[in-house]
Amino acid sequence: MPQIIDGKRISQEIKDELKEKVAALKEQGIEGTLAVIQVGNDPASSVYVNNKKKACEYIGIGSLAYELPEETTEEELLALIEKLNNDDKVNGILVQLPVPKHIDEEKIIKTISPEKDVDGFHPENVGNLVTGGKGFVSCTPAGIIQLLKRSNVTIEGKNCVVIGRSNIVGKPMALLMLRENATVTIAHSKTQNLKEICKQADILIVAIGKPRFITADYVKEGAVVIDVGIHREPKEVDGKVVSKLCGDVNYEEVAEHTSAITPVPGGVGPMTIAMLMNNCVEAMTRE
Ligand code: NAP
Repeated sequence: MPQIIDGKRISQEIKDELKEKVAALKEQGIEGTLAVIQVGNDPASSVYVNNKKKACEYIGIGSLAYELPEETTEEELLALIEKLNNDDKVNGILVQLPVPKHIDEEKIIKTISPEKDVDGFHPENVGNLVTGGKGFVSCTPAGIIQLLKRSNVTIEGKNCVVIGRSNIVGKPMALLMLRENATVTIAHSKTQNLKEICKQADILIVAIGKPRFITADYVKEGAVVIDVGIHREPKEVDGKVVSKLCGDVNYEEVAEHTSAITPVPGGVGPMTIAMLMNNCVEAMTRE
């Protein structure tokens, strides 16, 4: 039987540790505030923003929510970010992505002060990850490292295949595994012989964005499989069609061939917010 890596439990453990840290910082007179900006009212984004507010409340830091209308101009958004960059009470700034099409996402990311960029998307923070310097790391990949470490999975010396090379997941994930001394291969849509490459992996991290894409024939017997994907699938339960979550991995088929695997939901998903909170607490104490 594989070890089911419990992201819910591990994220709760991290949030509880952070809660204690925040209480200790408060005693030293150090307070934290995260500013979350949402442009437009995409329902999925609203859920994420709300969860972030709740997590701030739980660990004991303040949150400022800016819910801006869809028609907000790029200049208006940039001006708000500048204002928050200069506000000493705010230590973390997050713009919920995606932003509407008339706003240049890259420009927004570059305008957030790197010291307050708790999402870890600013090129300066990405650069620090590449060179081994200090800086904020993208939350989902940072959460996966915690999942592995807290589940006693050895990373050093292992063959790791990361499928996906997005700036948010795949690339930082590969760099973090390299930092942990894994031997890392990055696969993407132009990769040839994907199955053979995946079969070499002791740790297979899947961030491909395609529901149930990875089947048992991609997985080496006894490998550790981390599923980053999140998809909503219609499913019939008791004659009713309900929406169920699934990942990029065909869990039912793959799980029995692994030594450890993350489920969807309850695997990688809950870790992203926990690591965002971790970055917020780090922002409170950064020199
Ligand atoms: P993305 O930007 O769409 O990137 C997908 C990557 O997969 C790309 O690099 C793409 O290659 C590669 N790819 C696509 N088809 C492929 C194929 N047939 N063979 C090999 N590689 C292929 O997605 P993302 O933002 O990284 O997210 C990936 C998944 O994780 C999504 O399901 C997303 O919803 C989920 N996600 C979850 C969390 C969480 O908190 N759990 C956070 C972020 C994302 P190219 O570069 O060549 O196009």
